[in-house]
Amino acid sequence: MKILVPIKRVVDYNVRVQVKPSGSVDLDNVKMSMNPFDEIAVEEAIRLKEQNKAKEIIAISIGPAQASETIRTALAMGADKGILVQSPERLEPLNVAKILKAIADKEKPDLIILGKQAIDDDCNQTGQMLAALLNWPQGTFASKLELNGDSITVTREVDGGLQTLALKRPAIITTDLRLNEPRYATLPNIMKAKKKPIEQTTPESYGINPAPRLEILETLPPKEREGGVKVESIKELVEKLRSEAGIL
Ligand code: AMP
Repeated sequence: MKILVPIKRVVDYNVRVQVKPSGSVDLDNVKMSMNPFDEIAVEEAIRLKEQNKAKEIIAISIGPAQASETIRTALAMGADKGILVQSPERLEPLNVAKILKAIADKEKPDLIILGKQAIDDDCNQTGQMLAALLNWPQGTFASKLELNGDSITVTREVDGGLQTLALKRPAIITTDLRLNEPRYATLPNIMKAKKKPIEQTTPESYGINPAPRLEILETLPPKEREGGVKVESIKELVEKLRSEAGIL
């Protein structure tokens, strides 16, 4: 069984993102990492390989040349091969999904495991769009994944409980936080990963025009939090909630 894992290079989740006076997000000298949900996707694919349920894992990243570092991280965790689709443009989910469809048509995987969302743009669209383009079943927000022959059981966290779905392969899965805890790459595996192959392509080689359809009009930093006040009594608190906060 072959698994494709699309991984996005995003601003590291520990970084406090700043907005430049020009209105764009400041990405100069900012630490970039693999999207955390995609690390979970890589981990899940590796676990399936360790259980002899998968043979090959291909990590795919669409982005600038530096996205090859993100692919190397996936290779060091245990993926077998990488595909870097080099694109200087910020790609929208539909274009990402179209490129992934073209790769899936060529590679013929049994499973594509994506993150449920990329933490930079919070779109939560690519997996669903890819499932529609491929006309494959989708198990989104997976918190548990079981494979039995051709059938896949996906447990999803939904409002008020858990939902269990049965899917037939080939299928799309998107990962939720509780699916697993990703491993750290060991030093010997980081060394081994340097020898693993990374194929280089471009969106144009799949006939995709990477130009965005949406224009970002404005990006604003969150409002600074105003300092609180101390009250002397519950009576004063109730008065302030009524007269100043307008809550009561
Ligand atoms: P999004 O729909 O943008 O929130 O992204 C959902 C998932 O799609 C991510 O967690 C990745 O698995 C995949 N994805 C999105 N953008 C890219 C990209 N540029 N390269 C590789 N995978 C991506």
